[in-house]
Amino acid sequence: MTSPDELEAAWQKRYERERKARLEAEAIAEKSTRELYQLIQDLKKAGEELRQAKEAAQAASVAKSNFLANMSHEIRTPMNAIIGMTELVLDTELTDTQHEYLAMVREAGNSLLSLLNDTLDFSKIEAGKLELDSDVFGLRERLGDAMKSLAFRAHSKGLELACHVHPEVPDVLLGDAARLRQVIVNLVGNAIKFTTQGEVVLEVACTSQTNDAADLHFTVTDTGIGIPANKLESIFDSFEQADMSTTRQFGGTGLGLAISSRLVELMGGRIWAESELGRGSGFHFTVKFPLAAERPSEAQPLQTVFPHDVRALIVDDNATNRLILNEMLSNWGMQATAVAAVAEGLAALRAAYDARRPIHLVITDCHMPGEDGFDLAEKINRDSRLADVQLIMLTSGSEPDDIRRCEQLGVAAHLLKPVKQSELLDAIGSALGLQVAEAEVPVDEVRQLSALRILLAEDSIVNQKLTLGLLQKHGHDVTVANNGKQAVAAIDRDHFDVVLMDIQMPEMDGLEAAAVIRAKETKSGQHVPIIALTAHAMAGDRERCLEAGMDGYVSKPIRARELFDTIAALIATEAPARAGETPPAAQGQAKAEPVTFAGELIHWSVALQTAQGNQDFLKELVQLLLEESAKLFVEIHTAIEEQDAKALQRAAHTLKSSLKALGASSVAQAAERLEIIGRENQLIGADEAASLLHQRFDSLKIELLAFLAGKQPSLREKDPATASRSPHDGALRS
Ligand code: ADP
Repeated sequence: MTSPDELEAAWQKRYERERKARLEAEAIAEKSTRELYQLIQDLKKAGEELRQAKEAAQAASVAKSNFLANMSHEIRTPMNAIIGMTELVLDTELTDTQHEYLAMVREAGNSLLSLLNDTLDFSKIEAGKLELDSDVFGLRERLGDAMKSLAFRAHSKGLELACHVHPEVPDVLLGDAARLRQVIVNLVGNAIKFTTQGEVVLEVACTSQTNDAADLHFTVTDTGIGIPANKLESIFDSFEQADMSTTRQFGGTGLGLAISSRLVELMGGRIWAESELGRGSGFHFTVKFPLAAERPSEAQPLQTVFPHDVRALIVDDNATNRLILNEMLSNWGMQATAVAAVAEGLAALRAAYDARRPIHLVITDCHMPGEDGFDLAEKINRDSRLADVQLIMLTSGSEPDDIRRCEQLGVAAHLLKPVKQSELLDAIGSALGLQVAEAEVPVDEVRQLSALRILLAEDSIVNQKLTLGLLQKHGHDVTVANNGKQAVAAIDRDHFDVVLMDIQMPEMDGLEAAAVIRAKETKSGQHVPIIALTAHAMAGDRERCLEAGMDGYVSKPIRARELFDTIAALIATEAPARAGETPPAAQGQAKAEPVTFAGELIHWSVALQTAQGNQDFLKELVQLLLEESAKLFVEIHTAIEEQDAKALQRAAHTLKSSLKALGASSVAQAAERLEIIGRENQLIGADEAASLLHQRFDSLKIELLAFLAGKQPSLREKDPATASRSPHDGALRS
């Protein structure tokens, strides 16, 4: 048994042990706290030092970038002088050797300048000094321009260069077009640099769109050397190149992609690449662009601008080009077909002619393997059935001879690839549309109108151009408004004799604009005549236009005669008592019917009067009549074949008017018979009337061709009653 003393001693011992342990623990804790405190102090100090170091580094970096930015800017100024002066000297008389040396100076100067530009951009971005602009721009036009600037490089390497903006991509955007161009030029420039054969294609798609913004996805693909998988990310770092040894072969600094990637980031997008070694690369980037409400003058009209019965054929060996062209033409409302070779193209043209659905327009690439675009043009020229086909040639610009050959072959237009939508639209407009308008001009009574102040409200560029050309040619003073809103504003500002108002326009359509104008006029007491320009001559269109307060309407495509008839009638009712002027419509009514001499096919005196006494002008008119009539006969036959009374009436009417204007009255009468058959929708007998017209016209043609060949026509004066008529009387009736 343990005694109480022993127990006490044991407790005492245990207590001592525990006290000692506690004291030891406390000492350790105190030491740890002290150490922790010290650690925190040290950390704080280190943090402070780090912060200071970071600030110093940042300041140094900004200073360095600022320095670089300033330096490169300073160097650019003398560089420009060096290059400019070298160019000036290069234009003077030099020996071959001097020329060669100076050309090298210019070359070296240019590469130094582009290096400086890159450095300047890069340092600006690094210094946080690069700010993006935000302006309204037309995407297709800007991309088209950027691609054009690279075309020569691509074509001189034999590469196909194409730009495919999907139709759903909105055109009017808000953003920094110059910086977007820089990224595109860098990516496409690289693609050209690293590709020796095949094609480089820029593609733009819209991945999503709201009312305010669109997400666009740009892709640049090539069929070049490719990039190893382990380099696909690092190439976006500054001074990185996939294969450092390529620098010598391909040149470059490794800054382009770094700049592009920073620019894309600044624009709120993402950039990346994918590639297969030896097969090619694809560079992608995305950018969200706000949509602009206002259309800049360069932006593309995206709506249908051509009548649906325009048939077009694309002949191009390159599948990407066929796809792009086909998409553009179909998008503009044409019936387009695409083939890959000349033989196929010719077969398609002839088949269409035989089926009485002739093709109006051919777009072809001039360089193709085997038979090329020039062979096609020659074969079309040799085939009389294809005499009316208009040809547009796409050239690469690397062959100086191309343009001369195009001109020799009578090609309607030649365009440098990659073709911009606006250019193609203009070229087609003048190959098909403008020619029609011009062909009509001399045979109209339009020249009787005194100069008017006309407001043209129209958003389609082609239609603007067509109508503007027509109006200005007749001496009218035209102001253009791109939409209804602008039209209303223009009327508030200025006085106009007449307003031509398109119906479908962005922002404010024609009907609304007419209503606004009329509402304002209730206060001012004025009344400006408004003529609607409608795309479809649909039942109910006329009523809707009149309801909106318009006075007349003309359907598209605009025929000069119809347009000026309508204007003349309106001006006559609006201002019949203009001092010293007889309203043209009234003049027309006052004239006697031109007198016809039986047995004479054409009254050259009438024709010459129509041509204002100018023989050369008369030759042009006769030429135009021959061209126009060939087309109209095809239309007449197609209309009869398809039992299309309206089309028959229209074609026969046009032909009749032209013939009358040139004093070919008996042939005009034959055309008039067909016109009446069409108007009354009684097509029985149309064939017979058509063959009579043909017969008379064929005889007339002999006389016309003889005149063109230089034979002097007999200018026997007509009935004395009509001898003193004004020069344009021949064109007064239709
Ligand atoms: P640079 O072209 O001046 O060298 P970049 O930054 O534009 O500089 O490109 C960096 C590198 O990325 C190039 O040197 C090249 O190795 C690679 N690269 C870029 N684009 C392509 C391409 N389309 N095909 C193959 N390699 C490419």
